[in-house]
Amino acid sequence: MNVKLPLVLIAAGAVAAAAAPPAEDLAARAARVHKDAIVADTHEDVPEALEQKWGAYANWHDIGEPGATEHVDIPRLREGGVTAPFFAVYVPAIYAETGGAGRYALELSDMVDGMVASHPKELAAAASVADIRRAKTEGRIAVLKGIEGGHAIEDSMGALRGFYRLGIRYMTLTHTNTNHWADSAGNFFAPDYDPATYQVHHGLSDFGGAVVREMNRLGMMVDVSHVSTETVDDVLEASRAPVFASHSSCRALSDIPRNLTDDQIQRIAAKGGVVMINISSAFLDQAVVDHWTAAMAGIRPQYLSIKEQYKDDPKRRQEELDKLIKGLPKRAPTDWKKAVDHIEHVIRIAGPDAVGLGTDFDGIPDPPTGLEEVSKLPRITEELLRRGHSEEEVRKVLGENFLGFFAKVEEVSHSLAAEPPSLASTSPKP
Ligand SMILES: [Zn+2]
Repeated sequence: MNVKLPLVLIAAGAVAAAAAPPAEDLAARAARVHKDAIVADTHEDVPEALEQKWGAYANWHDIGEPGATEHVDIPRLREGGVTAPFFAVYVPAIYAETGGAGRYALELSDMVDGMVASHPKELAAAASVADIRRAKTEGRIAVLKGIEGGHAIEDSMGALRGFYRLGIRYMTLTHTNTNHWADSAGNFFAPDYDPATYQVHHGLSDFGGAVVREMNRLGMMVDVSHVSTETVDDVLEASRAPVFASHSSCRALSDIPRNLTDDQIQRIAAKGGVVMINISSAFLDQAVVDHWTAAMAGIRPQYLSIKEQYKDDPKRRQEELDKLIKGLPKRAPTDWKKAVDHIEHVIRIAGPDAVGLGTDFDGIPDPPTGLEEVSKLPRITEELLRRGHSEEEVRKVLGENFLGFFAKVEEVSHSLAAEPPSLASTSPKP
């Protein structure tokens, strides 16, 4: 039926439409903000996942295939709008016992270089803030490298500098092991976890302090994820540049030693650093931790007997312990919106410049429901907007906070250009 509207009403409607364009719905707004933003994710364990799947020297190109790893591949990085993933050169703690940590780190670094070289249209090797911004304008994904586990440098400043030259731009000072110069928070999920056994130096040794200062000179970001409370204190004191946590969350919301206390978050922020939120369900949700702790207590006797039986065979010991833990029923994942709660917690206690994303995809067995893999990241943008955060604040969380921190680390390095390389060593003086 054709209803004729009075002319005056049609005219009024036309004026209203011109003055206020149809409201952009939340999903469209989120898609626009996410697409324009630089999205940094400072911890993805893609190299380790590929190494476990194929071995270090095979199928680098595989990162382009859908399902290349459990959580990450190029199509899903694209769908997730990721501009700047850090692929972790993760050196398991076992290498501190068996030797070969440096060689393993070199192999994984080389593997990342191989991946990038195999996909020149999609990926760009990146090692600076400028590289990341350039890749964004070129429509490529800026792939960066960070070492996880300071034992990778095998107590050698020369090795540290060598890794910097290979493009490594951060180093997590420890993994779950205390190394020769920094205490770790330890392997807190183990049934026999005792933090005291990891407190060897009570923070950083003198050499550890020298490592941090040399990283400042080079322009390598200092990462306090995995380190002990005392090490965080020492790092904040020793470092001449801001420091960050590449993949940790808030202890106020999930009480595990891998998460940061409010006080630590505030001190990291006050120094110009950032806390990059880990999305493991255990890192996000106390209920998941409690469930896991109970399960661990149940396998304590078997765990201890494996440790005793293979005490002289670290590789076998690790295999058997992994098998035991993998045999446990899977932890129930939490809801993905908990990740946004952690982001908001950091904003509340330390301000909107102090937080970013360090998902730990491919390094965690329990991403939350709804953020199962990297393509789901735009949901975080939508939820932050839904909760009333401004577009500017959302862009900060997605990447600008991290870039601001990285830029400060670069500035400190430039300001130290006249300083000679460190000659510090753990070897006794001749
Ligand atoms: Zn880690």
